[in-house]
Amino acid sequence: MIRGLLVAGNEKLSAGVFHFDIPAVQTCPGRSSLCESRCYATKGRFVFPQVLERLEWNYTRSKRSDFTDRMVDELYRKGILLMRWHVAGDVFSPNYARKMLEIIGRSPHCTFWFYTRSWRVPTIFPIIKSMSIMPNCKVWLSADAETGYPPDIPDTCRVAFMQTEEGEDTEEADLVFLDRPLRKLSLPMLNKVCPTETVAGKERGTSCATCKVCWS
Ligand code: SF4
Repeated sequence: MIRGLLVAGNEKLSAGVFHFDIPAVQTCPGRSSLCESRCYATKGRFVFPQVLERLEWNYTRSKRSDFTDRMVDELYRKGILLMRWHVAGDVFSPNYARKMLEIIGRSPHCTFWFYTRSWRVPTIFPIIKSMSIMPNCKVWLSADAETGYPPDIPDTCRVAFMQTEEGEDTEEADLVFLDRPLRKLSLPMLNKVCPTETVAGKERGTSCATCKVCWS
């Protein structure tokens, strides 16, 4: 049996959403020291040997010349309608960004979304902008207190802010992800917080498939 590049989603994404992941930190050229220190993809299940092996395997595959064809074929054959790039990892090079762009363009039946700090890399950001104008792709520029907000936010991109301390400026953010210790506090801007991180959203059993904020 041929090993697939894509994996069905977890409880947060929902099983109907597929994702493609690569090793965190080493594939994150736009990372800040703050996001690296809080990164969920460097702990928990992400450090299980079988998960580490899969991330490395995917990374190797992503650098091969047949990656684009293989991904397009798998998305089509499995009838995947929703795909999230990079639960772990990020847009690591201009060449990889161009492959993502081609995959999105050749897979019009599927809706894609991703969050990225690679807007901080001048050779990658123009290709991220190109992805953001594709009708079947939603792009989120990730920010935190260390990166600040992107100086150039295209109309086709939105901003996701990782809040790590109470009182940080979330005014310009379209969406807020709370660092784990903040999730226990009653912060005033809950309408911008990902519902999987709020008590009400958890009680309802919200997933990315039902929430739709990031991909619709
Ligand atoms: S805001 Fe909604 S779609 Fe976005 S990550 Fe949270 S649950 Fe998923």
